[in-house]
Amino acid sequence: MSADPILLTPGPLTTSVRTKQAMLHDWGSWDADFNAITARVRDSLVRIVHGEATHECVPLQGSGTFAVEAAIGTLVPRDGHVLVPLNGAYCQRIAKICKILGRRLSTIEYGEDQQVRAADIAQRLLEDASISHVALVHCETSTGILNPLQEIAQVVARHGKGLIVDAMSTFGALEIDARTTPFDALIAASGKCLEGVPGMGFVLARRAVLEQREGVSHSLAMDLYDQWVYMMRTTQWRYTPPTHVVAALDAALEQYFDQGGLAARGAAYAENCRVLIAGLNRIGLRVFLPSEIQAPIIVTVHAPDDPRYQFKRFYDAVKARGYILYPGKLTTVETFRVGCMGQLGASGIGGAVDAIDAVLVDMGIQTRHPERQRA
Ligand SMILES: *Cc1c(COP(=O)(O)O)cnc(C)c1O
Repeated sequence: MSADPILLTPGPLTTSVRTKQAMLHDWGSWDADFNAITARVRDSLVRIVHGEATHECVPLQGSGTFAVEAAIGTLVPRDGHVLVPLNGAYCQRIAKICKILGRRLSTIEYGEDQQVRAADIAQRLLEDASISHVALVHCETSTGILNPLQEIAQVVARHGKGLIVDAMSTFGALEIDARTTPFDALIAASGKCLEGVPGMGFVLARRAVLEQREGVSHSLAMDLYDQWVYMMRTTQWRYTPPTHVVAALDAALEQYFDQGGLAARGAAYAENCRVLIAGLNRIGLRVFLPSEIQAPIIVTVHAPDDPRYQFKRFYDAVKARGYILYPGKLTTVETFRVGCMGQLGASGIGGAVDAIDAVLVDMGIQTRHPERQRA
């Protein structure tokens, strides 16, 4: 197991041995032991956002996008109107979901290095009273930019609209408190900051809203209302659950709470991010975002400005040194990404910087570092 390269990707990421070991069993989907695991996981997920009094956790089979699509499809009425501020690929994905599901859509466009502004949302809500929901991505994993969730949640609540938050890459590491940050739905998944394995998404939905969403979904399998009601009635999942994924998430959550929960996870990622950026700067690589708007989740790095740089060769060489990088997702500038999350092994994120450094030297690639410049 230790021979696997370390994943510097924002899910799937490198999980602990204990989390992997939790999958060495088989469970019956009807069995009370498995249903107790499901119940425990759902309770823990609600507890992380302090939503016990107001919110319900509805898990869903599949990757994170399945849960986002299910949330829009179930929680936004068919005649609803969704405002999606766009500053990256995951907001674009939400906009596409709205189009495919036939929900009326409005957007506000930003550059990929610009945060969404609460004042712009307020303005649009004032101008167009037909907007019923705002759908926001908390950390745009495509760049690593953090959007000001708390401010935006206040604006949306003040206008009496519903907020749907894709908190996929922040849930469990950055503080979100349902008692002070009002949202109708917050969506995340098993294989991100909670450090489980991928395969289960979940929606923390406001109970008072969910109760009114019978028959709204366009889809049978993606209907969160049905999934919730069935689970409440039977304790079971509607349709075959990803049993091993749920068991691994249960183990990952146990370790998460043992290690100090959100504060500890957030601090560990912030330290990884700090060491990573300092290390990249030291070897002459430039990060894409200013640190004030950088979430401690994933860092976008400008590719070295050298014709010898080619992502695939660079990637393969870094992989041979034990680390898996993530390609960039910007259309206009060449970048690569490095995740700050997961079990990073004994040498930590510093080991990743060393591997990147060694590969740049091996490939004779010039960076902004004074000693790496050629005449
Ligand atoms: C990972 C992620 C998703 C879900 O992506 P999947 O590939 O479906 O798991 C959605 N939004 C954000 C911000 C993410 O980081």
